[in-house]
Amino acid sequence: MAEVGAAGGGAAGGRTAQAEARLAELRELIRHHEYRYYVLDSPEVSDAEYDALYRELERLETEHPELITADSPTQRVGGEPLAGFTQVTHGEAMLSLANAKNEDELRAWHARVVKLAADAGVLERDLRFVLEPKIDGLAISIRYENGVMAVGATRGNGEIGEDVTANLRTIRTVPLAMSPKAAPFPSAIEVRGEIYLPLLAFTRLNEQRVAAGEATFANPRNAAAGSLRQLDPRVTASRPLASWFYAVGYLEGAQFPTHHEALEWLEKAGFRVNPDTRLAESLDEIVAGCRSWHERREGLDYDIDGVVIKLDDRRLQATLGAVGRDPRWAVAYKFAPTTAQTRLRAIRINVGRTGVLNPWAELDPVEVGGVTVEKATLHNEDDILRKDLREGDVVVIQRAGDVIPQVVAPLTDLRTGEEKPFRMPDHCPSCGTPVVRTPGEVAVRCPNPDCPAKRAEAVKHFVSKGAMDIDGVGDKLVERLLELGMIRDAADLYGLQPEALAGLERLGQKSAENIVNAINASKSRSAARVLWALGIPHVGGENADLLMRRFRSIAALREASQEDIGETPGIGPVIAESVVDFFRDPRNADLADRLAEAGVTMEMPEGGGAGGAGEPAGPLAGKTLVLTGTLPTLSRQQATDLIVAAGGKVSGSVSAKTDYVVVGEEAGSKLDKARKLGVRLLDEDELLAVLEGAGAE
Ligand code: NAD
Repeated sequence: MAEVGAAGGGAAGGRTAQAEARLAELRELIRHHEYRYYVLDSPEVSDAEYDALYRELERLETEHPELITADSPTQRVGGEPLAGFTQVTHGEAMLSLANAKNEDELRAWHARVVKLAADAGVLERDLRFVLEPKIDGLAISIRYENGVMAVGATRGNGEIGEDVTANLRTIRTVPLAMSPKAAPFPSAIEVRGEIYLPLLAFTRLNEQRVAAGEATFANPRNAAAGSLRQLDPRVTASRPLASWFYAVGYLEGAQFPTHHEALEWLEKAGFRVNPDTRLAESLDEIVAGCRSWHERREGLDYDIDGVVIKLDDRRLQATLGAVGRDPRWAVAYKFAPTTAQTRLRAIRINVGRTGVLNPWAELDPVEVGGVTVEKATLHNEDDILRKDLREGDVVVIQRAGDVIPQVVAPLTDLRTGEEKPFRMPDHCPSCGTPVVRTPGEVAVRCPNPDCPAKRAEAVKHFVSKGAMDIDGVGDKLVERLLELGMIRDAADLYGLQPEALAGLERLGQKSAENIVNAINASKSRSAARVLWALGIPHVGGENADLLMRRFRSIAALREASQEDIGETPGIGPVIAESVVDFFRDPRNADLADRLAEAGVTMEMPEGGGAGGAGEPAGPLAGKTLVLTGTLPTLSRQQATDLIVAAGGKVSGSVSAKTDYVVVGEEAGSKLDKARKLGVRLLDEDELLAVLEGAGAE
């Protein structure tokens, strides 16, 4: 027995030694990352990775309280002030905030506050809380003496910050003197808030830095911090920083019984206080408030990473005090991050139906906004070059709502020299034909009409839902049929026999028969749909409808001159030219001939409409879309034309009847409204996918 006991003791000792070693390792790692983040404003790892290390440290310290050291990162806030700045000792320490990662943790925090308040003689029903957005920026504290700015500082290590007074003076929303409306002024007051960079300014700043060969910022917080912590205030002045104020620190010669009264006074004194700051009287109201901020998050022009919930009664705040670096009376309810860092493994190219080479990013899988992301869109060559994305880069990716993930920026600081700059291929990756770039257009195209990738995309478009809607003919089958030479284009589909299909792509005899039946059934689609299915550039559902109403048959349309076509109501010269060009190509003329021979409908019924009635044409048939903001490549007019061509309507305002809102940069109030109404959002790439018939449902 004695031996077993000794062995057990040895094991426990071993565990402590192990914990000690891991603790030392974690502290060193965390210190390193904090230095990169707080001092250099240039993190090497994502917040999620840092948080995981931090939580592990907290857990180990809870298990082994005897191993907590005074210099452990859990005992300290932020980073050391940068040499070069004069140091400022805060009148009252600037703390951090404990986090609640989910509603359960929020409830647990609330329960603790209720208990501590009860211990202090305050009943739950008398508790009040203030909810504020948690701005993703840089905390500052500005001391005003008798209403005049005296000194402004960063949080630094919580006790001592950096004197950034000259820089703060360059920010327009930071008052140099308080408004007389708030007089009489306290003899001294530390006003606290957040300096942040609006999202658009953040994107622009990173693009400018890439162009200037400077290191990019990983997120708006680092960009704001890097902009404020400048030894030359002119640099700060050149960055469009903004501010929100949300707290009072050291205070002399005045009193605020509650936090919300302090905020009201700050607003009167001329500080920007977030207008959506709310009081909550119960846990349910707190939870509802957090959910509501979460929903509104994407409509804001600044980044918020959560909601801060603060006990309103300032005396009770003081009674509850702090544990380590976190006050007990406040908590940050954190949203799942919408950005993440990962490696850009490769830039790959897709060739579209019209031959456009579309680059996309293959990424190391990473979780963002609750899903694992492995691919992201890269709009075009110009965009890649502007952002200077290189294969092998660590990049920041962003995923907002349903929108396809985007690559925001490379972290140029983390380059090893092995990264490969991107060059659009000179030759089509599918057929090897030299590509062409039309002056004035960002897109690069494969001009080869026989390009296998283009052929495949054309057949996929032909069979897609909005066009001929042929069930069972999926992308894989189309590719296989082309590969085997069983079809060269869409017309050949009508000659396929079930026996030839059976066995391909694991198709049984029955499925093969069903597919052939579906192909045959498509012969009776209206001529307008056939016209759309041909895939003439700019001719989608609505334009096909208009053209068929006027010309009554595809044969008549082929005979018509460009001028004649251009006189069709609703059809402009660009579309007319596109139609004429299309049929001038003998391959396309042949395709139309062979479709007619196969028995596909090429004419309108006598006296009927376009055949559209009851049979919507185009992938956006019957849909209403609203455009907002500037799209990366399409002009407003081009986008409108494409939508109309696909059978959709473009409306100027968002309502419950809107099907999609197409969102570009600098999107305005329409985006907010769309979010409020829960309207589906599309970015340009998604719009193009829908237009190609890929479907958004
Ligand atoms: P925090 O960001 O979680 O919360 C405290 C800060 O919130 C305050 O200092 C203030 O700047 C800010 N804030 C915004 N709105 C506020 C409001 N209304 N009221 C009060 N405060 C408000 O804590 P922290 O200590 O500043 O930083 C921790 C964060 O930094 C974590 O998200 C962590 O992931 C990240 N971090 C990342 C790395 C990295 O290497 N990636 C390193 C260190 C820290």
